[in-house]
Amino acid sequence: MTFIKLEGLTKQFGGLTAVNNVDFEIEKGKITAIIGPNGAGKSTFFNVISGFHQPTAGTILFEEQDITKLPSHKVARLGIARTFQTTHLFEQSSVIDNVIVGHRLRTKSNLLDAILRTAREKREHREAYEKAMEVLSFVGLTELANHPVATISQENKKRVAIALALATSPKVIFLDEPAAGINPDETDGLAELMKKMVDNGMTVCIIEHKMQMIMDIADRILVLNHGSKIAEGTPDEIKNNPTVIEAYLGGELVAEIS
Ligand code: ADP
Ligand code: MG
Repeated sequence: MTFIKLEGLTKQFGGLTAVNNVDFEIEKGKITAIIGPNGAGKSTFFNVISGFHQPTAGTILFEEQDITKLPSHKVARLGIARTFQTTHLFEQSSVIDNVIVGHRLRTKSNLLDAILRTAREKREHREAYEKAMEVLSFVGLTELANHPVATISQENKKRVAIALALATSPKVIFLDEPAAGINPDETDGLAELMKKMVDNGMTVCIIEHKMQMIMDIADRILVLNHGSKIAEGTPDEIKNNPTVIEAYLGGELVAEIS
């Protein structure tokens, strides 16, 4: 069964075509990387797949179900999670409270339930707490669960953002530049975390500019340029692809990975 299949995926903003007629398949249980220069349409590509934007044209099939027109909360319920390029955490709240709030925003208790402290509300709160502890353990933050976010390192904030996405028990997680703004050692730690997700049965899609990391962990790479797919393949195929070298960073890409 095809896991995620994109056909003719297109997103226009007014006269600008941010994603242009992209055909692509995302394989289950693999790490897929989306690379390309700034403004290539990578974040928009994620926004469209996760239902934050409606595509202008094309179809999105998830486990052979057409999800093209589903809103983001329904897409999330099917098991597609994402992080954002900039995640706004509540800096004064604890790590675990951030994860619980993130999880609860995706669950169903309504306000009346919360006020009346109904049995369902209490149960959902307990479940959210347990789930939050489970995902914090997964990302390596158990010890910091009760620390205010403001006091933890940049790398650990990235881990909290990932924990928020993991709290919905996704089948696939889309990570938008998870290693931006952190140092190489911390980047290695995040790469390990991505491999761990795959080892635990998840599928990972990642946008990242850190080429060495991508070349190390990706099974497959999609290259976007001006919204269009200019190449796809294994890391070896991509780094030797003349079109990619010419269009995307050229010498910079070659220098970083050789
Ligand atoms: P990338 O993530 O590859 O840097 P983006 O997907 O963020 O690229 O942006 C692709 C293009 O689409 C850019 O020209 C950007 O300005 C435009 N764009 C992205 N989001 C919007 C939006 N919500 N409204 C209008 N234009 C947008
Ligand atoms: Mg982006």
